[in-house]
Amino acid sequence: MENDKINGKIQLKGMLLGELENTLTELGEQKFRAKQIFKWMYGSDINTFDEMLNIPKELRKKLSESYILNTLRLHSSQVSEKDGTTKYIFETEKNHKIESVIIPDDNRITLCLSTQVGCPLDCKFCATGLMGYKQNLTSGEIIDQYLLASKYFNKKITNIVYMGMGEPLLNYECSISSLKIFNSELISNIHLKHITVSTSGIVPNIYKLADSGLNIRLALSLHSCFNEIRNEIMPINKKYPLAELIEASKYFTNKTGLKITIEYIMLKDVNDRDEDIKGLAKLFSQLPIKINIIPFNSLKHMNPEGLSLELKPTSKERIDYFVSKLKEKNIQVMVRDTQGEDIDAACGQLAIKMNK
Ligand code: SAH
Ligand code: SF4
Repeated sequence: MENDKINGKIQLKGMLLGELENTLTELGEQKFRAKQIFKWMYGSDINTFDEMLNIPKELRKKLSESYILNTLRLHSSQVSEKDGTTKYIFETEKNHKIESVIIPDDNRITLCLSTQVGCPLDCKFCATGLMGYKQNLTSGEIIDQYLLASKYFNKKITNIVYMGMGEPLLNYECSISSLKIFNSELISNIHLKHITVSTSGIVPNIYKLADSGLNIRLALSLHSCFNEIRNEIMPINKKYPLAELIEASKYFTNKTGLKITIEYIMLKDVNDRDEDIKGLAKLFSQLPIKINIIPFNSLKHMNPEGLSLELKPTSKERIDYFVSKLKEKNIQVMVRDTQGEDIDAACGQLAIKMNK
């Protein structure tokens, strides 16, 4: 559906091995070529079919007549002077702009990638939510963020987080295809245990993901243990309320054996009260979780209105207190860095004004 024709051509990138085999069979070609093309597409940084040296010239020509290889082009990039975080703005064939961020750490290089142009879920604290939704990315566009970021950053990416623009579980098929390709043994890219998908809680697709056999890590953007509050800051909670979300999370953990990471943005007087500590402790008694405390990144650059305007970050002292109380309850808690803040590349700050 999303892989519409561009100038009469289809994106070849994004296809799984089986899909490539079918495509080649339809073209009257031998199936074994699929593996060769797969390796070129996902395991190298070539730009044209003509660079696929072990593919016969005729086939390269045939492919280039009906398919396109590269799905994104680099529009611009910005490097944080503080911490080396690098933001890439890519442009799709349909001229939509999306962002990917590389976050270098001591021994890890993490890529934060986008799955949608904007996001329809309208979380009140999120810049992407404020910009609205344009469309899903194709699996090729998800993978190209990795391929291009690897090329331009020029160091091996060790981890991927699906935490850029958009809700990966609302673009389920393409997100899953990209995960399968990253995990393919034909190209030794990135092991699934180094990939985290973050969701705001699309319950039916949490079940699907648990059943997919892909043992990726799941992060759940919880941000409140109370429906009244979660409904306000994350409208998706009205569709999939907390009780259902917790059931789905239990199912995921039982099925995969993996602990879910709870993402929790600290919002002053909204979810940083003593009763919120109790709420998290109660959740921990039902479900093995790790908690990632995220300092709220300001949306000032977006000129927010309504509730979004009223949300304020919790003070550092209160975050320290909150964290120490959770630790007293033996909960594993981490406070996330606000890397990339100076270039609007930190968590939840991704939004392209030009797309508006
Ligand atoms: N849609 C998915 C993944 C993208 S958002 C999700 O919501 O989980 C990635 C993370 O950034 C989420 O945990 C989200 O809650 C967080 N985030 C959004 N806006 C933020 C902000 N202004 N400050 C800090 N984190 C934010
Ligand atoms: Fe969408 Fe996630 Fe932002 Fe919510 S936090 S609007 S789900 S990208």
